Amino acid sequence: MTDDELMEQELVRCNKCGYCLSTCPTYNVEFSEGQAARGRLVLLQALRDGELALSQENQRPDSGLVQELGEAVSGCLLCGACTEACFSAIHTDELMVRARAGMPGGPPKGVRLLTRHFLLRPERLTAIMRLAGVGRRTGMVRLLRRLSPTLELAEELVEPAPREFLRDRLREIGFHPEGRSGTWVLPRDPRALTVGPRVVYFIGCGTNYQLPEPGAAAMRLLARAGCEVVVCPHVCCGLPPYSYGDLVSARELARRNLELLGGLGADFLVTECGSCGRFLKRYPELLAEEPDLARQAEALGEQVRDFTELLATLPLPEPVNPPAGVVTYHDPCHLGRGQGVTEEPRRLLREAAGAKLVELPEANWCCGGAGTYNLAHPQRSEAILQRKVANIESTGAEIVATACPACLLQLRHGLRMSGSGAVVKHVAEIVAEAQGLRSARVEEGVRGGTTNCET
Ligand code: SF4
Ligand code: SF4
Repeated sequence: MTDDELMEQELVRCNKCGYCLSTCPTYNVEFSEGQAARGRLVLLQALRDGELALSQENQRPDSGLVQELGEAVSGCLLCGACTEACFSAIHTDELMVRARAGMPGGPPKGVRLLTRHFLLRPERLTAIMRLAGVGRRTGMVRLLRRLSPTLELAEELVEPAPREFLRDRLREIGFHPEGRSGTWVLPRDPRALTVGPRVVYFIGCGTNYQLPEPGAAAMRLLARAGCEVVVCPHVCCGLPPYSYGDLVSARELARRNLELLGGLGADFLVTECGSCGRFLKRYPELLAEEPDLARQAEALGEQVRDFTELLATLPLPEPVNPPAGVVTYHDPCHLGRGQGVTEEPRRLLREAAGAKLVELPEANWCCGGAGTYNLAHPQRSEAILQRKVANIESTGAEIVATACPACLLQLRHGLRMSGSGAVVKHVAEIVAEAQGLRSARVEEGVRGGTTNCET
């Protein structure tokens, strides 16, 4: 189905019932129709039917109408909660992405440049991320942030980058290089209770450059559970440009990944990032207009597993070091709602980690992070986050588990702001520690986001 056909087919199915309103996090902050699925779809339909005309005059990106439309369209978290509540299961999130692509002026030009010069060229992205890390450690960024409130906010939200990225640490984790250039293999742990599958590990950008510890823990656990883990060169999954409506860039990245990840002779493609995993599973829709590639994408999509989805099927020994304190679990939108993976992380926490798990009220309510949403819409994101923090505090949990790096950063930020003493960790870290696979560099003292591991 083309992007136009998708828009056409979906918009007419909205009967304006309003069942989506109560589930929409942005509507529940502002109580304005423009911030709910129904209002957003009405606006798009009016535009399509010509009732809301974008004239030469008001089509300028700075005109009031374009700004109002832009706010409704860009204000969507793409969380998918409305689809779940909607009898017609309208995919408002997908329509918002298509609308972003079609807005006057199109997606931000910077996203295209970022993709062409960095996301498709990981060696350059790595170099620039190292530079950014040095800038932050030497205080350069602190000087620059005076020039931009967004930089200031970014410094608050994003924790200091690690000195070594996950790809720099493969040897330390136990990987060794394999024939094909840039390919590394972590052999099965000889103590494993079974001979598990051979898996290719997809290292998302957030995991590699910002939060390597969850990725390292997931790799160690997979090997301990009997998997042979392979890391090979690949590029960003494409979700960041897609979220900005830059479908051209997202498709370029998807094509490149199909080229790089095909033919590795593995059973599964695994990641601990709920957002990357969901987007990799959606390559067939993204490439629907290129039948040959769509078929390849279909085959790849069937191999994609969230790390929790695969690990929950493999035997692990009894935990030797269960978490000290009550644990609660936040469902990332792209993992729970997006991939239907809700039981597996909870089961791993209870059984493989031996955790005392309490259910989080509204566990699947978006945390407001949504990639860079917290930078683009800071007030709304903050209000959504406060609801999440209040729910976390109501459980009395000392440890908050989740399974997506973006949620992890957002939750740490929220708990830091509220002064809570709760620690936020990825499920992989909690299970690895409980299984006695604690990393030498594990980020001790990560309380609500302050970390003392910057050495
Ligand atoms: S629940 Fe679905 S059909 Fe009803 S208003 Fe919302 S999007 Fe439209
Ligand atoms: S995707 Fe989420 S934020 Fe967007 S309209 Fe639906 S419920 Fe609201």
